[in-house]
Order: sequence, then structure tokens, then C-alpha cells
Amino acid sequence: MTGGAGFLGSHLIDRLLALGHEVLCVDNLFTGTKRNIDHLHAAPRFEFMRHDVTFPLYVEVDEIYNLACPASPIHYQHDPVQTTKTSVHGAINLLGLAKRLKCRILQASTSEVYGDPSLHPQPESYWGNVNPVGIRSCYDEGKRCAETLFFDYHRQHKLEIKVASIFNTYGPRMHPADGRVVSNFIVQALKNEPITLYGNGAQTRSFCYVDDLIDGVIRLMDTPKDFTGPLNIGNPSEFTIKALAELIIEQTGSNSQLVFLPLPQDDPRQRRPDISRARERLDWQPRVPLAEGLKPTIAYFRERLKA
Ligand code: NAD
Ligand code: UDP
Ligand code: UDP
Repeated sequence: MTGGAGFLGSHLIDRLLALGHEVLCVDNLFTGTKRNIDHLHAAPRFEFMRHDVTFPLYVEVDEIYNLACPASPIHYQHDPVQTTKTSVHGAINLLGLAKRLKCRILQASTSEVYGDPSLHPQPESYWGNVNPVGIRSCYDEGKRCAETLFFDYHRQHKLEIKVASIFNTYGPRMHPADGRVVSNFIVQALKNEPITLYGNGAQTRSFCYVDDLIDGVIRLMDTPKDFTGPLNIGNPSEFTIKALAELIIEQTGSNSQLVFLPLPQDDPRQRRPDISRARERLDWQPRVPLAEGLKPTIAYFRERLKA
């Protein structure tokens, strides 16, 4: 598991250990933290290795989940060249590893490959509307190039690949300062600080609770050999960002007021996954509605802020 000390990676490790697997977590701790995997250090089937995936990696494993990559705009724009390297050199190294070991490899790709979509909701067949030279491009184009590499290793070297197009996911262990909308709004609400809405708050996102996401990703890894994806994994219930802010204020009982700030460059106006293919191929769909998933997420941030 590359990126295993991050938000999604650490949940995926918990689930794989519970299923009886051995897990090697490879992470350079750029945005991930040891806190997310602290509870595993006594676990006999868990091992942590500090390593940057832009460098070659020689280990022996049976399956690879490639999650290493900063995921929030603040973090991936902090060192954009390193972000592209992580996606592209990281993919080459992990694909080289999978090729040597003849093992299955799953790529954590993203709905950002669809950019600011002109087709709504987004099916996997949509090629996207992506700015190649903007401030989000290091992430979007890095992930798109990684997908290209996955499919070329599949065609050229017969590698078994799985590509997951992950849509906005939230839950406990999100980084409190990563600037993503759910973590930002919850932290602001708990501190009774102004809630920062970018633009008029009418842009939409569709939020998937982490447990549902992990369930989908593991099912994807376990699909038959000929199924490569890309496969959308996310929750199709769509909310405006303003509606999210109001729900969080209500659930936290906060006195926070809404403030409107400029919309960042290339911010997608709308996003919702078409998950028909996941329903059909994985017999999967999200179970946790936003109002339910926010409860454990708010509880997590409440504890973090106390600490
Ligand atoms: P995260 O930032 O919490 O986790 C990413 C992990 O990768 C961190 O632990 C970080 O330290 C590690 N990492 C970064 N660069 C690395 C490098 N060069 N070498 C080794 N490790 C490195 O983010 P997350 O939300 O858990 O996202 C995990 C994956 O899922 C990412 O690839 C992201 O693009 C993808 N994804 C996430 C979402 C979401 O909503 N959370 C949506 C779409 C795609
Ligand atoms: N690689 C790795 N671990 C391995 C095998 C390969 O990190 O176990 C890296 C290696 O650095 C190489 C890259 O993966 O540059 C791509 O490997 P591939 O076999 O596709 O290419 P080649 O070695 O022919 O350049
Ligand atoms: N957003 C916002 N206030 C914040 C953080 C984010 O209004 O404090 C908006 C942001 O402009 C975007 C949406 O919320 O329209 C989701 O942002 P996030 O960075 O979480 O994810 P992404 O844009 O990558 O989907």
C-alpha cells in the first residue's frame, strides 16, 4: 500500500488486516502521519517503510494498491513539480515492480481526470475537460498520465491493472489543515469561526463516506482478471457547497456565519459520479448518507481539536 499513512490508505490497511492480509505500508509522510497507523505497530501482519515512490522500490508483495499522492489542492499545489513526479515516476516504479512480480496493481485515480466537466453526471467514458497549464494541472494531468501508463503496461506487458476513479471522500483521519471543504468547514464550525465559502457556494460536489469507498476499492481489486476499469467509485448524492456548510453548522450546533471568498482558478462547478458500472460490476453502492457520515467525522475532529 503506497500512501498508506494517509487518510484513505490507513482505512484501507485497517480493512485489509481485518480480512487477514499482511500489509506493507510505504509512505514518505508528506501529507500522511504516523498517527494514522500508530494503532497498528503491535500488529504482527503490519509493516511500515518510509520511502518516496519517485524512487525505485524493490520489495516482494502479491498485490499493490498505489495511493501515494497528496490529494488536497493546498498540499498538491505546495510543490507542484513533486506532485507530478509522484504520480508519474511513482506509477512507473510501481508498475515496474508489478511487472517484475507479475502481480495485480490498483491505481487510486480521481474524478479530477474529468476536470471541470461539461457532461453531468460523469460516466467513465467521458474524456474530461482539463486545463493542462493551470494550478490544478500538476494533480489532474499527473493522474491522467498515470492512467495512460497503467493502460500501456496492461497492453504492452499484459499487466493486471485496476483503475479506480475516486470522487470526493470524507471521514475520520482527514488532515485538519488540508483545506478540503469537509475538514475546513467542520474545523471552522467547531471553533465558531467564519465558514469560508469560495465563490457563491452554488458549485456542487458528491461526498462519499470513507467506509463505503474502501468497500468499493477492495471489491474492484477482487474483480476478474480482464476487468481493468476505470471505474467510478463515489456517492452520487449531489450537494451545493452552501448546503454542506448549512448541514455542518446544524450538526455541530455552531454559531459560525458564512463568508464568501473568491473562487479558486479552475474550480469545477459541478461533480457527480455515474456509478452504473460499479453497481453492475461490483454489486456495490454507497450506504452512508452525508448526514450520517458527518457524525463520526465531526466527532473525530472534536477529539483532534481537544488534543
Ligand atoms: P492523503 O494526502 O491523506 O494521502 C496520501 C498519502 O500519500 C500520504 O500519506 C502521503 O504522505 C503519501 N505520499 C505523498 N507523496 C508521496 C511520495 N512521493 N512517496 C510516498 N508517499 C507519498 O490523501 P488521501 O485522501 O488519503 O488520498 C489517497 C489517494 O486517493 C491519492 O492518490 C488521491 O489522489 C486519491 N483520491 C482521494 C480522494 C479523496 O477525496 N480523498 C479523491 C480522489 C482521489
Ligand atoms: N522498478 C522498481 N522495482 C522493481 C522493478 C522495477 O522500482 O521491482 C522500477 C525501475 O526503476 C524501472 C521502473 O520500475 O525504472 C520501470 O520498470 P520497467 O521494468 O517497466 O522498465 P525498465 O526497467 O525496462 O526501465
Ligand atoms: N471550498 C470552499 N471553502 C473551503 C474549501 C473548499 O468553498 O474552505 C470549495 C472549493 O472551492 C470546491 C469545493 O469546496 O468548490 C470542494 O473543494 P475541495 O478542495 O474539498 O475538493 P475538490 O475541489 O478537489 O473537489
